[in-house]
Amino acid sequence: MATPSDSGTYEYDLIVIGGGSGGVACAKAAGDAGAKVLCFDYVTPSPRGTSWGLGGTCVNVGCIPKKLMHRAAAIGGDIADAPSFGWEGVDRKAAKINWSELVQRVQNHVRKLSFGYRGELRSKGVTYIPAIASFKDPHTIAYKQRGEDKTVTGKYIVIACGGRPTYPDVPGAKEYCITSDDLFSLSTEPGKVLCVGASYVSLECAGFLTELGFDTTVMVRSILLRGFDQEIAEKVGAYMEEHGTKFQKEQTPVAFAKKEDGKIIVKSTGKLGDKEEEFDTVLLATGRTPVTEALNLEAAGVKMDARTKKIPVDKTAATNVPFIYCIGDAQLGAPELTPTAILSGKILAKRLFGGSLEEMVYTDVPTAVFTPLEYGSIGLPEEKAKDVVGESNVVVYHGSFTPLEWAISDERSHEGEGYVKVVCDKTREETVMGLHYLGPNAAEVINGWAPSLRLGVRKRDLERVVGIHPCCAEEINNVSVIKGSGVSEAKGGC
Ligand code: FAD
Ligand code: NDP
Repeated sequence: MATPSDSGTYEYDLIVIGGGSGGVACAKAAGDAGAKVLCFDYVTPSPRGTSWGLGGTCVNVGCIPKKLMHRAAAIGGDIADAPSFGWEGVDRKAAKINWSELVQRVQNHVRKLSFGYRGELRSKGVTYIPAIASFKDPHTIAYKQRGEDKTVTGKYIVIACGGRPTYPDVPGAKEYCITSDDLFSLSTEPGKVLCVGASYVSLECAGFLTELGFDTTVMVRSILLRGFDQEIAEKVGAYMEEHGTKFQKEQTPVAFAKKEDGKIIVKSTGKLGDKEEEFDTVLLATGRTPVTEALNLEAAGVKMDARTKKIPVDKTAATNVPFIYCIGDAQLGAPELTPTAILSGKILAKRLFGGSLEEMVYTDVPTAVFTPLEYGSIGLPEEKAKDVVGESNVVVYHGSFTPLEWAISDERSHEGEGYVKVVCDKTREETVMGLHYLGPNAAEVINGWAPSLRLGVRKRDLERVVGIHPCCAEEINNVSVIKGSGVSEAKGGC
């Protein structure tokens, strides 16, 4: 098999397959470093026919439209709170979301960002081809342009193809249900919605749909937010339930059918017995599958993990073929998050063309779940920390608080719904293994902690720095009650 050290000449120094978060970042950084770069990006329409432009999942059907809809929902909460803060003439009951207007404005923004990516690639000298790319041989990529079969060669190839929503093997799933690929551009109001799945996508979407006024149910197969601290996941769910989201726990769908009036009949089974219920919209949020099968990986000799369809790589993001790399959601073991895809793309480009020896590190990645009560975390959940160092070696500090933002609200006068948990390793001077925050602006609160955890911050370091007052983030500095000590974690006073 050819290697990049071959004397062969190639049309491009780098070919990137996929113009999403990781691919665009890698292509731009390689262009900056003077490499001749080609980037392919093509979106196969969803079973419902939804398609979009350059930029990948995050910009078009992920983080960006999701966060804008989350914001629209939060504004509803602010309208409800307004009279408690002295506002007159604001009537929550009269306020109603105009779904079409929201979708239109979100889509306008998304299109603007997607268009901007084209300009950015151009400004870095990257050639962009809107076509599906697949391997012909390890250095040759095949694609179709205006009906014509073409090929192009590259010294290095980066697979950054991301993934698409997984449809469960349930009759009617593809025919009658939508996914996050369709929701943010849905032209008609979703009406009564069922969200199937209980992780990031399902809970975030169910959260904003409920707050926007739609009758929303989440069907949970097992637990909420697998992989997250389960005590906090339960608090996230409890808050949503209190605020109107319905949950059908330990229940799974077995069939979807459509009635003549357009309603979807969902048959399900589980703890609630065999059930049948009608919905206007069913959102499947049952995970994502990388679109690696379309790449003809066999032609390049690249190995794929058969179960996950993800691609195993070494510490440099190289696949088993040394000059073919994989970054982002398609990489086995990488978190499915935009910032990890971006950073690994940049680091790879600098290794290939900038003389850098840096490797991507996937520990201490902060993340936030944008549910109505937001949850931000970094490091390990309590249960995982106990698995790693042993239960008796873990000490957990925790505290609940009432966010000042909500303190005088009649609508949201829920005591102690904010919560902080600091998970520490007793054997290493209470080095922080996990930091968890539940409350307003969770992403903003948790984002800045990444360097501290990477540098081995200890519990006493948190106490010895001065926080900002009054804000929710200062609870991380002030938390002092040891979980299980018998002392109430509820915060008193200012
Ligand atoms: P993608 O961004 O998916 O890009 C891959 C691109 O390659 C796509 O455009 C695809 O069409 C194209 N492609 C695939 N195969 C080929 C081919 N053969 N030829 C040409 N082009 C091809 N992450 C966060 O960090 N924060 C969030 O708040 C967040 N919210 C999310 C909300 C939702 C609803 C979803 C679904 C995801 C969210 N994510 C979030 C995850 C984030 O969007 C992904 O982790 C990120 O986009 C992955 O980047 P990527 O480059 O690996 O792939
Ligand atoms: P996940 O893989 O995280 O979760 C899938 C969910 O669907 C689980 O609750 C799972 O249940 C359930 N499920 C799977 N199959 C079935 C089935 N056949 N029937 C019923 N339920 C089923 O996927 P998501 O789509 O939520 O998210 C994908 C990734 O996107 C995340 O891992 C995350 O990295 C990224 N993302 C990030 C966001 C952020 O940063 N805020 C927001 C949204 C997405 P079970 O636990 O029982 O397996």
